[in-house]
Amino acid sequence: MMIFQGGKVKYLSFSDWNWPWLIHGFSTRWGGVSNKEYRQLNMAGRGDNASNIRKNRALFLKEMGLINPRVFMGEQVHGTNIKMVNQESSTIKRNTDGLLTKESQNVLLAFFADCVPLFLVVPEYKTVGIIHAGWKGTAQKIASRAVEFLCKNLEIGPDKIRAGLGPAIGPCCYEVGAEVAEKFLEKEIISRPRKKRFFLDLPQVNIFQLEDAGVPAANIGKSGFCTACNPHLFYSHRRDGEKTGRMASLIAII
Ligand SMILES: [Zn+2]
Repeated sequence: MMIFQGGKVKYLSFSDWNWPWLIHGFSTRWGGVSNKEYRQLNMAGRGDNASNIRKNRALFLKEMGLINPRVFMGEQVHGTNIKMVNQESSTIKRNTDGLLTKESQNVLLAFFADCVPLFLVVPEYKTVGIIHAGWKGTAQKIASRAVEFLCKNLEIGPDKIRAGLGPAIGPCCYEVGAEVAEKFLEKEIISRPRKKRFFLDLPQVNIFQLEDAGVPAANIGKSGFCTACNPHLFYSHRRDGEKTGRMASLIAII
């Protein structure tokens, strides 16, 4: 992913995703109004002042060229529910970790501070989506489920799907206990058996799932950023604890 900066707001995009009808980006912590632990562009969460979050979201949307759009958000419960939204849908989707749309002017927004943001695009069918994949959703194969959902809904093969993984916690920083490690295959864990420590490669597990579901490796992009390793750019729940902000993933058709 490349870092872009127009005004004060910095965000990341996949530089080869240049379809003229697509808007997508992953916010960093640069360019917002929040203070202290939430400094600067905090996009969600309970700890920060709600009016700062509102202002930050408006700044990010404006940076992406969106003024007062219809914004859809999932409740993000670390489940596997994925919903296709249209302009008649309610804008807050209960019990939902994945949002898809085929309509223009519907902005899909999801929030992250270590979990994997999985962007999806089906260029030939002008369909887009964003998936929130933490370890629980990943253990329940939310990435494969999203591919199956799209294939069924659009009546297409998985080779039509382009996927991109935004910044998430990497295996360098994501130590998990044995109870989490046992939910994943050996190849998905970097284990250090002598010290009895396990490190989970959450982005890679999602890539395996996309490939298992039939998405060609050449169609899958990845940011290469670890959220915990880059405090100047990203909030990280693992690094900072409860008192930290959230980045936003945004995708929309114009
Ligand atoms: Zn790291």
